Amino acid sequence: MITTVTLNPAIDKTYRIRELKCGRIHRVQQVTEAPGGKGINVAKVLHRLGQQVVATGLIGGYNGQRICHLLDEMHINHDFCRVSGESRLCLNMIDDQGVGTEVLEPGPAISPAEWKRMKDKCADLAKQSSFVVFSGSLPLGLDQSAYQQLVHLVQQSGAKAVLDTSGAAFRAALDACPFMVKPNLDEVRQILGANMLTREEIGQVIQEWHQHGVEWIAVSLGAEGAIVSRRDAGAWLAIPPQIEAVNPVGSGDSFVAGFVAGLAEHRSLEECIQWAVACGAANALEERAGEIVPDRIREFNPQVKLVRL
Ligand code: ADP
Repeated sequence: MITTVTLNPAIDKTYRIRELKCGRIHRVQQVTEAPGGKGINVAKVLHRLGQQVVATGLIGGYNGQRICHLLDEMHINHDFCRVSGESRLCLNMIDDQGVGTEVLEPGPAISPAEWKRMKDKCADLAKQSSFVVFSGSLPLGLDQSAYQQLVHLVQQSGAKAVLDTSGAAFRAALDACPFMVKPNLDEVRQILGANMLTREEIGQVIQEWHQHGVEWIAVSLGAEGAIVSRRDAGAWLAIPPQIEAVNPVGSGDSFVAGFVAGLAEHRSLEECIQWAVACGAANALEERAGEIVPDRIREFNPQVKLVRL
């Protein structure tokens, strides 16, 4: 089993409206909603890839119930911790020109007692999981060591931790030696406080993280693919097929899902990288994050080029 952890999930609601103008009344032409948050996107893709997955995290209120209901409709298993606040609503208003305007709620603040229950839940699920994937930013009320604590706990319980987050929470979690990390290039720049990074500088930081004990590191580069490195085997540049991207939001989550699915199926190192890149590209062709078409992955897989670095 693979567990995905989303500490601040959301209802992603999309309104289609003719024209958006401040101070006006707008009649919505079409409303769609989906369970959101990076870890939930990972769970959606793992489920589509036929993996046994459980989505966990912190949910509350009516929006929390709705997230569970939407996951039930998709037949995705879930086991969340309830909190007293209301889970967030993220609203994307798209006009006739295709221009999107987003309004994102912060989500509930988490109390110490709620955090304790989340840690216990993660430790329990980790005992039944080969991988536990942590994705996304931290909710209010938790300090920057939150992922560090969870990575430590789940790896003590025997699962491998995969981490996709940014900033201080990412840096702190490195001390717990997650099995795999997947920052994108902007996140690496932000972590290092650098505006520009050469390939050599990316290589240096990868080596530093390996020395910390991280087994797999993927630095994703959007349409340019990803640099993927394993501690004892060196690095590859993986180049995706050229596509007309529709919406790349969620491509990083799909990349993580493809990679972990490959690892869970004991695929070769090259196959894991190809699956990840193919899933990222397949996601970029869809309007909604995490709604990949499995046939596309089979189509893209052989088109992913691997260059030894
Ligand atoms: P994130 O969503 O975390 O910012 P990226 O945008 O780097 O992640 O995307 C993750 C992966 O998805 C990339 O490494 C790449 O393999 C694939 N991908 C993303 N955008 C495209 C695109 N426009 N064309 C082809 N592949 C893409």
